Amino acid sequence: MKQTDTPSALILLFGATGDLAKRKLFPSLYRLYRKGQLSEKFAVVGIARRGWTNEEFKSHVKASIMSSTKRVEQLDEFITHFYYQSHDVSDSDSYLALKTLSDQLDEQYQLQGNRLFYLAMAPEFFGTIAEHLKTDGLTDTNGYHRLVIEKPFGHDLPSAEELNDQIRKAFAERDIYRIDHYLGKEMVQNIEAIRFANALFEPLWNSRYISNIQVTSSETLGVEERGRYYETSGALKDMVQNHMMQMVALLAMEPPIKLSTEEIRSEKVKVLRALRPITKENASEYFVRGQYGPGQLEDEQLPGYREETNVDPESNTETYVAGKLMIDNFRWAGVPFYIRTGKRMPSKSTKIVVQFKDIPMNLYYQPDQPLAPNLLVIHIQPEEGITLHLNAKRSGQQLQTQPVKLSYANNSVDGMNTPEAYEKLLHDALQGDATNFTHWDEVALSWRYVDVISDAWEETKAEFPNYAAGSTGPKEADELLEKDGFSWWPMATLDVDVCN
Ligand code: NAD
Repeated sequence: MKQTDTPSALILLFGATGDLAKRKLFPSLYRLYRKGQLSEKFAVVGIARRGWTNEEFKSHVKASIMSSTKRVEQLDEFITHFYYQSHDVSDSDSYLALKTLSDQLDEQYQLQGNRLFYLAMAPEFFGTIAEHLKTDGLTDTNGYHRLVIEKPFGHDLPSAEELNDQIRKAFAERDIYRIDHYLGKEMVQNIEAIRFANALFEPLWNSRYISNIQVTSSETLGVEERGRYYETSGALKDMVQNHMMQMVALLAMEPPIKLSTEEIRSEKVKVLRALRPITKENASEYFVRGQYGPGQLEDEQLPGYREETNVDPESNTETYVAGKLMIDNFRWAGVPFYIRTGKRMPSKSTKIVVQFKDIPMNLYYQPDQPLAPNLLVIHIQPEEGITLHLNAKRSGQQLQTQPVKLSYANNSVDGMNTPEAYEKLLHDALQGDATNFTHWDEVALSWRYVDVISDAWEETKAEFPNYAAGSTGPKEADELLEKDGFSWWPMATLDVDVCN
């Protein structure tokens, strides 16, 4: 195995029998191990309610890795580092037993007291666990103690503040790693590189040259098995408050003086502080909501949201949100950032379209053929890449132009295998790099912004359903842009092959 600079660590994984651990965390840890990016000195304690033995847990971990990874090698060796403890999160005796096991593993693997506590559990337990970890002595070692915490971080500003106060009693802000897995995605991390490593874009990255920016995250799936959770959340809290606003912050921030955690976070916070506040009275001018009714997608008949399992037949929960964010600072004054996210859309795609302003005078103007605007499209998922839309002269004698696309597709680069977001985030947390995790100030500012919209929506019953499953969303979302003289760029993934 290659040498790594990742420090030794005991990883205490709460919620180890759950879905997230199985689908994402075990395979990610394994890939880090195989690439030599985990210290050889590591151990993992899986913690959950079930009364499993170490052996049962190990076979569970092994099965999860085998079902998600094509190349399986050194797996048995990897699995020897895994242990299990059946645990009741509100009972001190459980933590005392966990402390004994942790101290023993610390010695056995020479872990130098380094501990990463990963809470892959329902959010109502986050505060209790953090408190117990401190009061029952699990953080009494000489090494580092980091808390990795899954979303959602509260369901509004007051609940987020309460949770934050609770965990801050046990962990310092610099040791709290709030996961927003979009920040682990290769192309989201690439936003900074595209902006700050190219002389081409940054000089144009302002209200003088950009007319609007559109951020879309669409999925074809409906609510699936998550009806119970989703009914209390909806698209605004599930997607906008965290992932969508984080992408806007990365697109809009000023160049940091260096790419350090503090500098990047501080620039993102400034963007969130510059967001034009929305009031309950004018919320409908900036944000629209939708909920899917029955529909059809590729010959499949689909039920409406209200017919899904664990969903109220009269539910007022939104499965779609479109919004216009205005950033009232010198760089962005007057440039709308449009966001939209929805379930049961015609395609699964997350992408950013930066639309540049029209040139001052079109020498190629023909009444039947206006010039297409220049676009920079950043494909986040499932495709990963960049497409630049330009105009070039059509071959032949006439003075006519045609749109051309210059594309770079990440996944078509030979030998490139984009690491899963969780793999990168776990690695960052083990390295002590919090750049791609959300700081409390970002969480608080985005809740403050979103709470007003959700309060306005709670007061009025929406006319749901208002879009058919398999369609691109409610007509109000189109109108949101039309009144500014714009329209949404197609949701369907644009071709990212190198062409023209
Ligand atoms: P899950 O319901 O599948 O698993 C929950 C885990 O918590 C299980 O291991 C269970 O044993 C344990 N648990 C529950 N109550 C307990 C108790 N009283 N004492 C001890 N252990 C207890 O949940 P999940 O889907 O794995 O999600 C976990 C967290 O990750 C949630 O915060 C969720 O929002 C977040 N998340 C999940 C996904 C995903 O893809 N599953 C994606 C993003 C975020």
